Amino acid sequence: MRSIFAAAAACCALLALANGAHAQTRWPNGAKAAVVLTYDDALTSQLDNVVPALDAAGFKGTFFLANVDGAQVGRWRQVAARGHELGNHTIFHPCTKASYPADPRYVSEAYTPASMLREIIQQNVLLRALDGRPRHGFATPCGQSLAGGVDYLEDLRKANLVPYVRGVVDTPADARADVAKADPMHIPSRGFGEGATAEKMIAYVREAEQGGGWAVFLFHGVGGDYLTVPDAEHRKLLDWLAAHRSEVWVTTLQGALDWAKAHPGR
Ligand SMILES: [Zn+2]
Repeated sequence: MRSIFAAAAACCALLALANGAHAQTRWPNGAKAAVVLTYDDALTSQLDNVVPALDAAGFKGTFFLANVDGAQVGRWRQVAARGHELGNHTIFHPCTKASYPADPRYVSEAYTPASMLREIIQQNVLLRALDGRPRHGFATPCGQSLAGGVDYLEDLRKANLVPYVRGVVDTPADARADVAKADPMHIPSRGFGEGATAEKMIAYVREAEQGGGWAVFLFHGVGGDYLTVPDAEHRKLLDWLAAHRSEVWVTTLQGALDWAKAHPGR
């Protein structure tokens, strides 16, 4: 009898392992992975180069706006009207003095968690004026969540001001993560900048495909501005994604999270 119980236990442990290995998000139409293209800092090169390329391919991107240029308000409104996602990146992009020199009032050391949350609320007002939506995802400036040296993420979570927070780091395991189980306050991303090639970016998508997870790209400049990915390489990535539509689902960050929540892995 003991050996039968042992065998049953081993069997069930194996089943549990198998279930664990397959507990991945199921993406629309059998896609093997979701691809999320995010662009930070409301840069002109994104309006000039990225938005037309995404529109031509029929893809939607996610744009985290900070330091919005008043002259570009109409263009950002059009970006939202075409179905792209606008996200919150604060108004003034406060980072630590050491990482992102700025006016002394606009470095994160000069903030408190309360003043940071107030700024996020106010940026949501601007975003709502642009796209009419009541809620917006958030991306931490410089990947930091510090205000006066204090981490404000828990305050942000409790205040329920944003549906998710995208950071700037990932691990190889994130590409294979069950997205339904992701902590919405710690969404990973992989940054691409100078030296990025389509080959390296496609390799990131392949990594996500292997595990049924997602690849969350983080871009700044594309063909201009800073941390610049060459426009030609970005276009090659989009061309590759367009040619592999049946394998990968290109969507906004909110779109991927909403889908994963409604269709958890089995
Ligand atoms: Zn930024």
